Amino acid sequence: MMIRVSKQELLELPSLLSAMGYSVIAPIRTGGIVKLAPLGSDIQPELEYVRVVNSPKKFLLPDDELLFRYRSTATITSYGLKIRFPTAEGPCPVAILPEYNPVRERLALFGIHQCMVNSVRYLDTVMLRDPADPYYKNRRDGMFIAELDCDAGDEYCMCRTLGTYKVPAGYADIRMRKSGDGYLIEEATEAGKELLSKLKRQDVKGKYPISVPKMVKDFELVTRDDQEIDAKEASRSLVACTLCAACTVTCPTCYCMDIEDKFSLIDPSNVGRTRTKMSCQRRCYSTIAGGTTFLAAKEERFKWRVKHKFPFSINAFKLVGCTGCGNCIACCPAGIDFREFVGRRVA
Ligand code: SF4
Ligand code: SF4
Repeated sequence: MMIRVSKQELLELPSLLSAMGYSVIAPIRTGGIVKLAPLGSDIQPELEYVRVVNSPKKFLLPDDELLFRYRSTATITSYGLKIRFPTAEGPCPVAILPEYNPVRERLALFGIHQCMVNSVRYLDTVMLRDPADPYYKNRRDGMFIAELDCDAGDEYCMCRTLGTYKVPAGYADIRMRKSGDGYLIEEATEAGKELLSKLKRQDVKGKYPISVPKMVKDFELVTRDDQEIDAKEASRSLVACTLCAACTVTCPTCYCMDIEDKFSLIDPSNVGRTRTKMSCQRRCYSTIAGGTTFLAAKEERFKWRVKHKFPFSINAFKLVGCTGCGNCIACCPAGIDFREFVGRRVA
């Protein structure tokens, strides 16, 4: 079922979602950028935008997360602090205290574009495969997605090449697109139907229109194989890489984490195991015990990122790990554009 509404009616949807018990996250324009953030009652979502500098990942995979606590035997010796870790010296002396909280907040992502819906699909594929990550699942279950069609990207977008302007079935509860001076909305799930039943509606006959977005720079992929990527001469622009990690921080599908046991010197036996986002562009990403670093050079780290998005993801998940959102290019202070490395400009 498809309906037509005015902009004002469409802007009633976030408060209707709040009334249904959702915490609404939407694109908000602030300080010259648009980002996804919790929507307060006095803030309106931004509907006319191309990109958000963050992504649903921020809400599904926090930057820093406590997984569980355990008590270890910790003693202060003349050499410093000595902690007994369960794996190194036998079973943990005291039970592990999980921090997992099954009482979840139901999230609604309102007004995200197709590339971001596809990023949720990719994260689901990685995090919910058997055995599912319970922390991710807890946040993902019951989530509502109200997708807003983007039909013209900026110079950094690549969704036409990758086909990620299409929304996979089952991922959006409603789809919305601008049409004349109003909006068309399609209900795609039972939750979407329930939401739209609360609006004053004008039913529209026909199929929800799907258009291929116009790309400012159009590329076709020519390199997907990992050996081909390894063999490629790196672009000279890589020299300018500042290793800031903005490419991986703003990427909606980068999910690498580091696991760390944290404790305070006041109570050193009380240990919190945390996972923290990690960037493959940092040298320490591939440093192992003994000091060996597998990806020691910038070029190797850049190629690793590209290989993870294409051959590694295709082999492991049967899905490309890049949604063509262009954030890694738009946010790179060195102007590094991975499309030139794997693609050929066609328009
Ligand atoms: S955003 Fe650009 S400069 Fe920063 S680490 Fe990534 S490629 Fe290097
Ligand atoms: S690799 Fe770049 S274009 Fe692809 S999903 Fe990540 S940020 Fe977007």
